[in-house]
Amino acid sequence: MLLELHNITKKYDDTVVLDHVSFRLKPGVYGLLGANGSGKTTLFRILCGVMKQTAGTITYNHDDVQSNPGAFRSILGFLPQDFSYYPDFTGMKFMLYIAALKGINKNFAKKRCLELLKLVGLEDVKHKKIKKYSGGMKQRLGIAQAMINDPEVLILDEPTVGLDPKERVRFRNLISSFSENKIVILSTHIVSDVEYIADEILVLKQGKLENRGASSELVNTIQGYVWESIVEKNRLDEVVAKHVISNQKHEATGTVLRIISNEKPTHNAEQVQPTLEDLYLYYFREDTEK
Ligand code: ADP
Repeated sequence: MLLELHNITKKYDDTVVLDHVSFRLKPGVYGLLGANGSGKTTLFRILCGVMKQTAGTITYNHDDVQSNPGAFRSILGFLPQDFSYYPDFTGMKFMLYIAALKGINKNFAKKRCLELLKLVGLEDVKHKKIKKYSGGMKQRLGIAQAMINDPEVLILDEPTVGLDPKERVRFRNLISSFSENKIVILSTHIVSDVEYIADEILVLKQGKLENRGASSELVNTIQGYVWESIVEKNRLDEVVAKHVISNQKHEATGTVLRIISNEKPTHNAEQVQPTLEDLYLYYFREDTEK
């Protein structure tokens, strides 16, 4: 299994939304990390054949996917960001409906839907209407429908938006349990979602693939740029205004600031070990300040 993007570019008139994005993915879990507007959804839409790129090619096992879209679609599972559920359908009815849309044989579909609902922990509520489901339950149903054709490539666009921390943990565990021998790509702007489950993180910044690597490798690239400093109350506003602040903690002696900076930001600042959260701020400081 090898999914390759070669110089994928997307333009709207003169606006470049994706700029020569190239990468090769083997089975594993990949986190596509980027601020809002960095091009994640556009990239996924192109990958899934919902939208056409301006230039570039996509190959799967060396075959051009767009010259035979049916074949690629049959091994692809997709959970879009704006996935619409039918609130009056039950979970089971919805799954059977998706199976029918995908042309899955009726007898097999029932067995497969039950199996998947069990896998995502919705077996007990399969006959309940979706409008009664929590956000986490809906997302798990979204994954189940994306898995209906046992895809080799699974694409999840911002799958954890709106989930509470407990649901998020459950979701992450679910993805890990699914991911063996699959290429799973999930986009997010929530660092902790990819920190634990992604084998590799792809950083997309303003339509360009800025960097890729395991979380620890990426974090090492900003070694020396993260500082902690105790700042007295009367200087706090000035320091905060001048730097990218990753954290603030008030203590009796002053405020402990965690600062992202290429240079030593204050006289008493000390270098600390960077985290992925710091890395995100380092890459997306302009985007987050907007
Ligand atoms: P993300 O998913 O990372 O938030 P998107 O792929 O949704 O990013 O959007 C990337 C950029 O493309 C944004 O700046 C957005 O405004 C722009 N964009 C998306 N659709 C259109 C469109 N139809 N016309 C012009 N610009 C668009």
